[in-house]
Amino acid sequence: MNFIQTRGVDTSRPTTVTFSEAILAPIASFGGLYVPEKLPQLGLEFLEKHRNSSYKELAKDMLNRFEIDIDSEVIDEALSLYDKFDDASNPVPVVKVKENLYISELYHGPTRAFKDMALQPFGVVLSSIAQKRDENYLILAATSGDTGPAALETFKNRANVKVACLYPDGGTSDVQRLQMVTEDAPNLKVIGINGVFDDAQSALKRLLASESFKDALQKKHTSLSAANSVNFGRIIFQIIYHIHSYLELVRQEAISMGEKVYLNVPSGNFGNALGGYYAMQMCVPVEKIIISSNENNVLTRLIKTGKYDLRGCEVVGTTSPAMDILKSSNVERILFDMFGHVRTRELMEDLEKENVYELTSEELTKLQACFDADYCNGEEGKKYIRDTFRNDGYLMDPHTATCLKSYETCSNPEIKTIAYSTAEWTKFSPVIANALTGEEDAEDIVALESISKEANLEIPAMVRGLFTKPIAQKTVIEKEDIEEEILKFL
Ligand SMILES: *Cc1c(COP(=O)(O)O)cnc(C)c1O
Repeated sequence: MNFIQTRGVDTSRPTTVTFSEAILAPIASFGGLYVPEKLPQLGLEFLEKHRNSSYKELAKDMLNRFEIDIDSEVIDEALSLYDKFDDASNPVPVVKVKENLYISELYHGPTRAFKDMALQPFGVVLSSIAQKRDENYLILAATSGDTGPAALETFKNRANVKVACLYPDGGTSDVQRLQMVTEDAPNLKVIGINGVFDDAQSALKRLLASESFKDALQKKHTSLSAANSVNFGRIIFQIIYHIHSYLELVRQEAISMGEKVYLNVPSGNFGNALGGYYAMQMCVPVEKIIISSNENNVLTRLIKTGKYDLRGCEVVGTTSPAMDILKSSNVERILFDMFGHVRTRELMEDLEKENVYELTSEELTKLQACFDADYCNGEEGKKYIRDTFRNDGYLMDPHTATCLKSYETCSNPEIKTIAYSTAEWTKFSPVIANALTGEEDAEDIVALESISKEANLEIPAMVRGLFTKPIAQKTVIEKEDIEEEILKFL
């Protein structure tokens, strides 16, 4: 299958590209994105066929239906990384939490957050494309805490790929920072910046657009790529777990085959929710996809009013930092799917120029037929963490907790909900400890111990081990010095 562009085609580019090409250079004409020319129509037949399949069998068949230009052995190797998850036979457990509320746990991979679901296999795919073409790539990543560890983990020691990962020094949790700075491999460079996440992100954008930086890389026979969530090479792996979670509910006899469910997704850049939307278009019976946000509630406002309005908005820091995003990149792919490339380009240009776009009332009706949304503030989130732990015996992280609010406000209680848990409690322990015991501003290691005691849960060995692992990556610099530092590393 080939890929087309959300904002139409500028005459200097081919009208369609292969999957490999869309992965290596993910930005399309006029700053748009690549999308599949036509989604495979799988239907209930596909669900029936996979009623009792393993995660990997389901994944393999779904990927085959996309007919992408990746060899079957590479796909097998990519999918074999799910064997490293906590339970190789079921990498994504789906747990009943309340009557009609099921939580699909996407965090059982090596870095304890859902970025592993896509980045683990993506690392194999990208490295194999680079090897096949006999090219070298530098992957730049800027992280507020979850993408960095997942990108380092997946590319560690892989051929033909190097990673430079920028993080705000002091702006991540201890566990997140340790996950990065203890990574020791010759093809990885972790750089702390004296600044906030936005400084790291802007530095990355500047480098991605800089011709002189690209020339300097060319002299070292290296091309630039990015592993951020607009890359379709990540999105494709995020469709699978939505199908799997639906089938889990069928297997657990919570629903009958064909019965509709809600998907409730804690959202930032909208990759997870987009995967759910594609799963719905392909085969999963979905009543609505519910988009959960924190105080950065631009998506709630879009879905409730039809206006994507960033005028006068600034990102606010919250207890769910992986969702502290205002420009939610993957929404563009929904606009394209619903309204076509001409309208998508018009809306995205409005956003770039005026900081706002507005859907017509017919367009809004169409959007609301698929989506609903609400947001949850930090105090409400902590209350959901505490109450769900006390009343239902289930411990969740602050991102997942945003789903509990919209579960109450947006769903018809007769219909089952699959909510997605995007991080393990160990990754955001200070907030969770505060929710459970009231202790304030504890360091991660103290918070981990107190949650472990309170909830009678073991701190996983891989998390505990971080605190005694040697620090391999010691660079912390000013943002002006990033380019030089990266060239030095190469
Ligand atoms: C990245 C992330 C999200 C947001 O996911 P998107 O696909 O960007 O919407 C939510 N929760 C956690 C813990 C994350 O790491």
